[in-house]
Amino acid sequence: MSVLNVAVVGAGPAGIYAADILSKSGREVKIDIFERLPAPYGLVRYGVAPDHPRIKQIINALYGIIAKGEVHLVGNVEVGKDVTIEQLREHYDAVIIATGSDLDAPLNIPGVDLEGCHGAADFVAWYDGHPDYPREWSIEGEHVAVLGVGNVGLDVARILAKDVEDLMVTEIPANVEAVLRRKQVTDVHVFGRRGPAQVKFTPLELRELGHVPGVDVVVREEDMEFDEGSQAAIAASKQTKMVVKTLTDYAMVEDEERTAPRRIHIHLFESPVEVLGQDGRVVGLRTERTRLTGDGNVEGTGEMTDWPVSQVYRAIGYFSSPVAGVPYDPKRGLVPNAGGRVLTGPEEGAQTVPGLYATGWIKRGPVGLIGSTKSDAQETIANLLADVDAGVVAGDGAERHGAATLLPWLEEKGVEYTTSDGWITLDDYERKLGQAAGRERVKVVSREAMTAISRGQDWDGPLL
Ligand code: NAP
Repeated sequence: MSVLNVAVVGAGPAGIYAADILSKSGREVKIDIFERLPAPYGLVRYGVAPDHPRIKQIINALYGIIAKGEVHLVGNVEVGKDVTIEQLREHYDAVIIATGSDLDAPLNIPGVDLEGCHGAADFVAWYDGHPDYPREWSIEGEHVAVLGVGNVGLDVARILAKDVEDLMVTEIPANVEAVLRRKQVTDVHVFGRRGPAQVKFTPLELRELGHVPGVDVVVREEDMEFDEGSQAAIAASKQTKMVVKTLTDYAMVEDEERTAPRRIHIHLFESPVEVLGQDGRVVGLRTERTRLTGDGNVEGTGEMTDWPVSQVYRAIGYFSSPVAGVPYDPKRGLVPNAGGRVLTGPEEGAQTVPGLYATGWIKRGPVGLIGSTKSDAQETIANLLADVDAGVVAGDGAERHGAATLLPWLEEKGVEYTTSDGWITLDDYERKLGQAAGRERVKVVSREAMTAISRGQDWDGPLL
């Protein structure tokens, strides 16, 4: 059989792991990863908080895959705009969608559109220097709210509460530093609508919060409530047990022991019902007290509390954007699939679309740590290879030449695509910028600058 040409859409961990597993399958393959940004790594670069260098280390493994030459990056190309899925499928034997989740899950309560009510995905993209987000951000007031008790909520709370000096070893760009220097936040109120055994934090991230300099973590003793469902959840999961233990430790700290200038409050059993506004701006948050119903779920008690906060950050989960030309389930925010084989729709009885696959968060929804995208990719690639063996993929005898024919077409169209070598150049540039400032890296934010540097052009314009 001739070489199998495969296109991956999205150069985050999901796409890069899938490419890596496929490249090691023993088949003769050529893999091109199409990425809408000039830089790879998706949420590792533009989602992981800058003060989590341990997680950012995953970049080294991903870099190794891109730099070894079997997998080629085609950056700065948006599938659905610069090239259509149909065109990709004309040039490649198989296409794997790995575009992840970039939006905030919707929250349908009054007041979410007020000025000062933000989605965490937007805030995270801003502080991580995403080129397509505005450079400005306004962090207002002393008391702010974060909705959702998952790790994104913790990231957002930490960045809002932390002293900017403690971020100066990280890769945060100058515009982010400037805004964080001006902030006046003293109290970040994180709200969970269920109880301590139902929070989504992971143990390490929750414990880390207790070590943030200048910040106390406040949990109220009366929020440490458990029902039968909670006890069962604790007994069933070591992780839940550890998280509950850490929350209990925080709750046991006496008020007089809390002397830090800033606080992160974790409020449980408080369900957001309305973002309160005045003159179009956020002035508070109304929550309804909930209580456990026995099975780990909660019901409203009707008891309302108004919290005077000047901003609300919604960290209630991510949601995936559709990719033009690829089936999409708008309810669940993902590509309908069976084991990574894309289906024609979410409805029962839907057929598989031959040669089209999905992996990562766009396949299973925005849950799980980065490592879990690896097992996900294994399943998708195993099914892809089974389809090759069955003649479903590349079995029609048609010649598809992948990059050999597509890249000249992009060039002709004037699409300024970037390559793996271009990324190595930009990566080196950012590291040198960092060295000059005593940091590991300083990010180039502007898309024009990223593209020009990657393409080996002289760039003396702004980097932000
Ligand atoms: P998540 O873990 O699913 O947490 C979402 C939170 O929002 C839950 O507490 C959920 O409560 C709450 N929520 C959902 N709808 C709500 C509503 N209508 N009102 C109030 N609360 C609501 O999502 P995430 O924080 O976005 O994280 C996504 C994934 O990325 C997770 O696997 C996470 O571990 C991972 N991640 C890891 C790190 C790290 O540092 N290791 C950092 C960031 C993200 P319910 O449970 O009641 O629905």
